[in-house]
Amino acid sequence: TTAKNFLKISKIDSYYGQIQALNGIDLYIDKGEIVTLIGSNGAGKSTTLKSISGQVRPKQGTISFDGIDITKKPAHQTALLGIAQVPEGRRIFPRLTVRENLQIGAFSEKNKTVVSERMERVFSYFPRLKERLSQKGGTMSGGEQQMLAIGRALMMKPKLLMLDEPSMGLAPIIVEQIFDIIKEMNKEGMTILLVEQNAYQALQIADRGYVIQTGQIVLDGKGEELMKNEQVREAYLA
Ligand code: ATP
Repeated sequence: TTAKNFLKISKIDSYYGQIQALNGIDLYIDKGEIVTLIGSNGAGKSTTLKSISGQVRPKQGTISFDGIDITKKPAHQTALLGIAQVPEGRRIFPRLTVRENLQIGAFSEKNKTVVSERMERVFSYFPRLKERLSQKGGTMSGGEQQMLAIGRALMMKPKLLMLDEPSMGLAPIIVEQIFDIIKEMNKEGMTILLVEQNAYQALQIADRGYVIQTGQIVLDGKGEELMKNEQVREAYLA
């Protein structure tokens, strides 16, 4: 295991057909860090996550994770290597129960004892999920669905947890709760890449941050430095 550059993205370009979404992105995450990628609508945040997880294949550049070149690996392989993605809009299975949604997250683990241990761990972060095990995912509130989406990702016991705008559409108090839990998971050793439009909250809990604009990283630095940066304040904290 490589603690430095646990994830390393070097000069990637990603496209959707003819449309270039990423233009020379460089980014690294050391083991145990919480790093945030902030930027406005359409800047390329989700595409960066998809390029890492293998849902989008970069045309140029390389991505390595835990010492392995994952540039061309499809999503099911990056998942097996320990990269979990909580997608934008949560995408839980609405007709399945909370328990079933969580079990799907542990698809690669056949040992039932291990699965139930992981579930207990998820409940330690999200006790609400334990109370609602038989409820259908689709009938949960927005905040509960976000908890379920994060819980489902944790069920694969990832080494890197990537979250795509977990605050989207949630009341401020719920956002605060979710960010507290993200911080707590990080304190317990989880390496996290957090994509957010909610720059203020994200920079508050992040060790470091990157600012992305039209597919390029325009700024990076420590969370507190970026929070004080004039450019960031004007564009993202106003
Ligand atoms: P948002 O916060 O709105 O999700 P984002 O920073 O995550 O924004 P991306 O979703 O990565 O931005 O989009 C980057 C660019 O790629 C945008 O110009 C977007 O229109 C384009 N794009 C994204 N997905 C597709 C797609 N499936 N087909 C074509 N273009 C796409």
